[in-house]
Amino acid sequence: MLKRLCLIISILLALIAISSACLFIFLPYRWKTVVLHLPYRWNAVIVHHSASSQDTTLSEVNAWHIQRGFNGIGYHYFLEIHDGHAYLKNGRPTNMFGAHADRYNGIALGICVAGNYETEHMSEEVYQDVLKAVEHVCRKHDISPDRVWGHRDVAATACPGKYFPLDRLKRDLHRRLGTQ
Ligand SMILES: [Zn+2]
Repeated sequence: MLKRLCLIISILLALIAISSACLFIFLPYRWKTVVLHLPYRWNAVIVHHSASSQDTTLSEVNAWHIQRGFNGIGYHYFLEIHDGHAYLKNGRPTNMFGAHADRYNGIALGICVAGNYETEHMSEEVYQDVLKAVEHVCRKHDISPDRVWGHRDVAATACPGKYFPLDRLKRDLHRRLGTQ
């Protein structure tokens, strides 16, 4: 009798395990990000621009991304620009997958700078702030400057724009982090 009960309980537990695994596999991506609160090891940073005006704020981008069906802002970091300087703000928690670069969301942190660098140049003051912010992110997550990419390096997009000083950023990061 007890043996039979044990067997039934085991079968039930196995069924629960299988069905929750199936449920997770078919869960929409944005819900997976809710479930996947992982202590995660990131190994790249992808740089974006907001492709909007320089006074775009983190909360505006958050609202746009919610409208697009994301689970809140897709970037882990966002640089707001006020009075000619860029200020680093925390976006999506870094223990959650991002929603900013398709296949790279599971390995790369997303950092976005307010502005459209396809049509405007970045001032020297803002550049220095962006450099310090990306350096901070690289140090915090132990990421090599070789793995700081522009969105356009991994996808068919102009992001972060042709005037975004990406090559200079990588060179300066190497110099400041002593990796070259
Ligand atoms: Zn982008």
